[in-house]
Amino acid sequence: MNKVVEILNSLHEDTVLVKNMHSGNQRVLGGALNNWKKIKGYDESDVIKCSRCKIKDAVHGGHVVKADPNESKEWYIVPLCVRCNEKKDEKPFEVNKDDLVRVVDM
Ligand SMILES: [Zn+2]
Repeated sequence: MNKVVEILNSLHEDTVLVKNMHSGNQRVLGGALNNWKKIKGYDESDVIKCSRCKIKDAVHGGHVVKADPNESKEWYIVPLCVRCNEKKDEKPFEVNKDDLVRVVDM
């Protein structure tokens, strides 16, 4: 069993494994977080926790795809803090399924 499949099997049903896509355009990313808040019913001034570390405040809408190779390669936005958004590792991380907003819905 490969590593990703192993991690996937250990996940809770309400979470999903994703990978950061590093779109790199900070201005667009900031706008993406505001769009994310709007879609989720938050105000722009509401403080959202980072989906990755669950500790720091999110300042970006980070572009991610699902890590499961059997899933579609559709892009999603999740709230990320500065540090998690800048992480250059390709390690998949766990987020709540509720945190995913499809980029095409924005
Ligand atoms: Zn974070």
